[in-house]
Amino acid sequence: MGMAAGMVAVGGASAAATEKFAIEESPVSAESVGSNRPAGHQSTVLWSVDTAERKVALTFDDGPLPEWTPLALDVLDEAKIRATFFVVGSRLATHANLVRKRYDRHEIGNHSWHHDDLSKLNYKDVMRSVGQTHDTIKRITGRNATLLRPPWGKMGGTTVRVAGELGYDLILWSLLVRDRALHSHPDELVEDVVGGVRPGMIMLAHDVGRTTRLAALQQLPRMIRGLKDRGFTFVTVSELRQSLPRQSGT
Ligand SMILES: [Zn+2]
Repeated sequence: MGMAAGMVAVGGASAAATEKFAIEESPVSAESVGSNRPAGHQSTVLWSVDTAERKVALTFDDGPLPEWTPLALDVLDEAKIRATFFVVGSRLATHANLVRKRYDRHEIGNHSWHHDDLSKLNYKDVMRSVGQTHDTIKRITGRNATLLRPPWGKMGGTTVRVAGELGYDLILWSLLVRDRALHSHPDELVEDVVGGVRPGMIMLAHDVGRTTRLAALQQLPRMIRGLKDRGFTFVTVSELRQSLPRQSGT
């Protein structure tokens, strides 16, 4: 039953996130990425965590930018919850002062340097994109990021290799906040999230993007309240991974 739960979450991701969720065939052959070279770290790919604990990880992609990132941080402060921000390295370098102290409570992950399609880059360019972002996160937050979310969920053999060499795991998502489809129906947008979350899910929201996303951020307090009412607690992705595994037969 444990496996089935994980697979439900994965299926949910592909159904809910058809526009964003697209893992392409690797455009790079195993030979060209030099797969005979051992990786320093055996990377895992995670959509959700198989647990019966009512925990959910809220994640925000694409920031930081001045328009909405402070709003997202305000909502999290107000609700006293922690989240995980997958940052675009070049934006973090430019807007460090926007987030320097404010990210302290939260987990920070790597979302490439220029929101790059890592599946289309060669080894050297993936290493540069992920590595520069890693160094910038370290410089500005003092922390070594270990979570990589490839933009659009797109990754190739080179992405997995670089992730292993830099000590990263690959973090996708199991529930997308459907701002594009439901931005003009706030009640449905909230219900879609509150009713859709299952224990161990990783939720994807954005603190940057087209204006329809602002509707989702504005509904975030209601989503958080609704999930708390259902008994969910909000944790970072790393904390979610520490959850107790689902017992077989439960
Ligand atoms: Zn993104």
